[in-house]
Formats: sequence, C-alpha cells, structure tokens
Amino acid sequence: MSHVLNTFLNENLQQLRDQGLYNEIDAVEGANGPVIQVKGKELVNLSSNNYLGLATNPELKEVAKKAIDKYGVGAGAVRTINGTLDLHVKLEEKLAEFKGTEAAISYQSGFNCNMAAISAVMDKNDAILSDQLNHASIIDGCRLSKAKIIAFNHSDMEDLRQKAKEAKESGLYNKIMVITDGVFSMDGDVAKLPEIVEIAKEFDLITYVDDAHGSGVMGKGKGTVKHFGLQNEIDFQIGTLSKAIGVVGGYVAGKKNLIDWLKARSRPFLFSTALPPGDVAAITRAVQMLMDSTELHDKLWENGDYLKAGLKKLGFNIGHSETPITPCIIGDEKLTQTFSARLLEEGVYAKSIVFPTVPKGTGRVRNMPTAAHTKEMLDKALAIYEKVGKELGVIS
Ligand code: PMP
Repeated sequence: MSHVLNTFLNENLQQLRDQGLYNEIDAVEGANGPVIQVKGKELVNLSSNNYLGLATNPELKEVAKKAIDKYGVGAGAVRTINGTLDLHVKLEEKLAEFKGTEAAISYQSGFNCNMAAISAVMDKNDAILSDQLNHASIIDGCRLSKAKIIAFNHSDMEDLRQKAKEAKESGLYNKIMVITDGVFSMDGDVAKLPEIVEIAKEFDLITYVDDAHGSGVMGKGKGTVKHFGLQNEIDFQIGTLSKAIGVVGGYVAGKKNLIDWLKARSRPFLFSTALPPGDVAAITRAVQMLMDSTELHDKLWENGDYLKAGLKKLGFNIGHSETPITPCIIGDEKLTQTFSARLLEEGVYAKSIVFPTVPKGTGRVRNMPTAAHTKEMLDKALAIYEKVGKELGVIS
C-alpha cells in the first residue's frame, strides 16, 4: 500500500474510533426476520426495513427459485445492450400499475435510483429545493447533478415557499425542483405533500418524492402519494424494492416521456448490469401481493400501534411518528448507545441513532415493527424495554 494512503487510512480510522463514530457491524446469522440470531443469540429484531415480512415470504422464495431455474442467476448485461429480460418489462408495467402512472423504470438499488434520476434531469443551470432531512442518496444525487442545492427547514412549508419564491424571482435557474422523502425514517413523520404540491404549482416546480419508507406502508400499501391522492401531481414517484417489497432495487414511476428520458440518459440504467432475474420475479409477485390484499399492511399498522401504545404507557418519549416507525427518544448520545447495548444483551436488536444523523441531544433507539412480528415478540421487547428503561433511569 502507498505510504500516503496508509497514513490517511490509519489516522482517519483512529479519529473515527476515538469519536465513537466507527460502526462495528454485526452479522446476522440467518434470515432477517422478526427474530434474528447475532453471535449465537436470538433477538427480537426491531431494526429491519422488511416492513411486511416479505424478505422471507415462502411464495416469493419459490417464485425466485423458478425464475433462477429458467433465466439463471444474472441478467448478463446492462439494460440497453441485452440485459432487459421480459421479466424486467413485466416488473416495470406492474410498478406503473401499482403507482397509478403511465410508466416506470427500475434500478439496481434505491440509492442509485436517486443518483440516476436527479442527475438525468437537473444540471448546473437548475436549482433543487431539498428538505433538510432528506436521505443521503437524494443529497448525493443532487450533488451529482451540479444544480444549486437550496435546503429548506424540515417540513417547514413557510420556508419552502419563501425559498421557492426567491429562486423563481432570481431568474437564475432554468428549472427548479422540490425534493422530499415521503416518510422520514428517523422520526416516522410524513411529508406535507398537499402543501408541497400547492407551492410547486405556484412556482412551476418539478416535484420529486422518494417514498422508500412509505410504499407498502402508507396509502393502504400504495404509498404516501396515493395516501394524499396526488398521483397526477407528482412528477417523480421514487420507491425502493428493498424495504416493504423485501428484495432489492429502486424505481421511478411517472409520465411516459419522463421514463423514456431516464431510459436514454440515466447512467446506472445505461452502464450497470440489470437486476437479477430471481429478484425481478420475486419483486413483481410482491407488488402484485400488495395490490391484491391489504392484510400485511393492516398487520404492520396493528403491530406499530401496539408497540407505540406499550412504549408510551411505560413512559418513553416516542416523538411524533405518524407511521409504524417508532423512535424512543433518549436524548443524551452516550446514554442512547448504552441503552441500545443493554437492549441487545437482554434480547432486543434496536439500533441507536445519534448525532450527526439526528440533531444533538435527540439520540434515540429506533424501532421498526413489521407485519411478521407476533404479539408475544412485541411483549417480550416491551418487557425488556421496561427493565432497561428503569435500570438506566430513562423511565421511573
Ligand atoms: N431513499 C431513502 C429515503 C432511504 O431511506 C433509502 C434506504 N436507506 C434509500 C433511498 C436507499 O434505498 P436502497 O437501500 O434500496 O438502496
């Protein structure tokens, strides 16, 4: 290794470790279901985005296996050469139907979907109004586009309106876009899409909603845009296929001309190998399941409400979540980390989230109940929360 690289790595790694910012990663020994095994220990899992439990769904596993038998394990090329299998075409038709749009395009991940879609449309002569708490992949997509990034205070519609007005009246930009998460994953709050759409109309903004945490969860499973009945008002409906859908990938749903443009100009579509056939087949079936029944969605909300009520009754501060995502706000960073570590020792896997991911002094343990949890699992988690909460003086 070059001397300069070696010094860079060692110094910076040391600094991260000294600041307590180096994340030691635990390997899950088996499926990422409602109960997981880590270092040989069984834990109630409250940290996965597998909201509907579909990652381990038996029917989806069978569908994936059949597709692998027919098509193999890889797509073999990028989409524009000959990596587009009939399976990809079916998936994109299904996603458009699911989202109520003319067309859709899939990507290899939600992360590269944001990188791809934003930079294919926006450039250095444009501006992007971006919610301060938007996901890292949105921030990176904005940076890649070279557009002027104007952050607005989280869900602050006055601030957004003011900044949209200034940007429009400055005459500096060809196009202006407003981007928001549909559901914010740190607090579980929902974007104010009706107000955003109103502001967008007033100032002719392009609208972009990343509903990674809303699809499968909001709008009876169809997402936050559907929840507000705004399918015809949002230009870019982004989703991931890795959370509620339980597999991997990302997509944009929108008008046909937008999707045609992304197929022609978005770089991960042009230059990165297509999603593998087993995954595509499983995703397509999962989307169909969400369209056919709200059973898993309903169970997810039932479990979310149950966990929330239980934590609240114990005296925890669960913030202002509007979705099953349930933060347990502890405050102090060190105490939050100790809390999460003690939960782990007792049998609950719930990650601590501290500054800089969330503001200083608002450290929290974040809980993601899923449709796959049973009441017994949630009761066990609540009993452990009570024990650790009392022990650490977080509740009395
Ligand atoms: N957007 C948001 C809002 C997310 O929370 C995430 C996942 N953490 C992503 C995009 C990236 O999705 P994926 O994990 O499918 O790459």
